[in-house]
Amino acid sequence: MSDYGFDLFVIGAGSGGVRASRMAAGYGARVAVAEASNLGGTCVNLGCVPKKLMVYASSFSAAAADAEGFGWTVPTPTFDWATLIANKDREIGRLNSIYQALLEGAGVRIINGRARLLDRNTIEVNGEKFTSERVLVATGGRPFKSEIPGHDLSITSDEIFHLDRQPKRIVIAGGGYIAVEFAGILKGMGSDVTLVYRGPLFLRGFDNDVRTVLAEEMRKRGITLLFDTLIEKIAGTGAALSATTNHGNVIEADQVLSAMGRLPNTGGLGLEEIGVELTTRGAVIVNENLESSVSGIYAIGDCIDRVALTPVALAEGMAIAETLFNGNPTVVDYTNIPSAVFSQPNIGTVGLTEAEARKDGFDVEIYRSTFRPMVHTMSGRNEKTMMKLVVDRKTDRVLGVHMVGPDAGEIIQGMAVALKAGATKATFDSTIGIHPTAAEEFVTMRTPVE
Ligand SMILES: Cc1cc2nc3c(=O)[nH]c(=O)nc-3n(C[C@H](O)[C@H](O)[C@H](O)COP(=O)(O)OP(=O)(O)OC[C@H]3O[C@@H](n4cnc5c(N)ncnc54)[C@H](O)[C@@H]3O)c2cc1C
Repeated sequence: MSDYGFDLFVIGAGSGGVRASRMAAGYGARVAVAEASNLGGTCVNLGCVPKKLMVYASSFSAAAADAEGFGWTVPTPTFDWATLIANKDREIGRLNSIYQALLEGAGVRIINGRARLLDRNTIEVNGEKFTSERVLVATGGRPFKSEIPGHDLSITSDEIFHLDRQPKRIVIAGGGYIAVEFAGILKGMGSDVTLVYRGPLFLRGFDNDVRTVLAEEMRKRGITLLFDTLIEKIAGTGAALSATTNHGNVIEADQVLSAMGRLPNTGGLGLEEIGVELTTRGAVIVNENLESSVSGIYAIGDCIDRVALTPVALAEGMAIAETLFNGNPTVVDYTNIPSAVFSQPNIGTVGLTEAEARKDGFDVEIYRSTFRPMVHTMSGRNEKTMMKLVVDRKTDRVLGVHMVGPDAGEIIQGMAVALKAGATKATFDSTIGIHPTAAEEFVTMRTPVE
């Protein structure tokens, strides 16, 4: 046993920090975790979980409209924001308690407060000093706002989960998945939604067909999408705001949501003072083993700015515990990470986009199917599902699987297993479909479109 108070001191009890703490303690390490806010971090409190609950909440208006084609008479549904927020907060509180019980059950000491490093083995929280042989920085990310006039009148995703009132008119600035998801959430709840993005099409980095189809579907649902547009100024008071664009349009709104990306949350930790190297965005620079430029100080999750997703932070947390405390050196494999956008309809994606595959020099074969999902043949909703396979002509290996449509996130998880296992198009072709589903289309597309 070392002379230090702990074997591992984790800063931040979010997705990555909790996983690393629990597993390391499970392997017999003496572990402490400091948390400045609520246990569970961004995902549980201000991210994945409350967001998905709000996606569910927002989907019932469309379901009610769709039910009529199946013989239901649904009175005009009404929605109460305060009920949703109260129920959501109750559920998050329940999850916070579960996290506490899991950490305590594993023997992890929880320290409530903001931690700061004094040297590579000493951490201060609330004026108290702790020592540890190793330190793990798992402080996550924070929303970024551009400094336009009136930017302080806008909110970020952190605040939207706790608004007293539903914004009846909202302008969303940004083109990433958070902007797109909140556009769908608020539209489903009956708000007027305008999404403003500086580029020609949102969701940069996703497959172009996916981006185009989703933009069409969002417009069909009544969301105003303004591309190649910037908000230059926000003015007003209370719920009477106006956002002025670079084209001179003035959009009236109750709220302006700034969803322009996130930065690593590494300020005020004392990292640079003790020699930990950071990128210009403030991310901790780590090697393959997630160790920083100072030996014994490790970092995982959003604060290293690799892939900002909860399952990736979990995998990194697990790799730390395995490597340092279980004698099982583990390096995270960042290939074929699947992800979903909980837009309406959903996006699910894994592997290379068509553009990436071409850029990487593959001779690609494209399979694409666009169809009206069965439910909408009777609901009357004019909505398309799009499914796409990117295949390497030379080896027949499937390089990418992409989908826009109901349950795409659920469907793509299984496809990710297939890609990880190196499935070829012939493997897809020899797989028997499940009928009648949309997913079966992935194993029945026979003729390449390109
Ligand atoms: C709106 C939104 C929706 C999202 N949706 C999804 C999704 O659907 N799927 C998905 O996979 N990912 C999603 N994410 C991303 C996901 O939440 C993050 O990738 C994940 O939470 C990163 O985990 P982490 O451990 O790196 O950090 P976090 O979960 O952010 O945890 C960091 C913790 O460190 C604490 N902390 C910071 N500084 C200190 C300090 N000095 N002392 C003590 N504690 C400190 C913070 O309070 C926080 O609790 C979403 C994010 C947002 C914002």
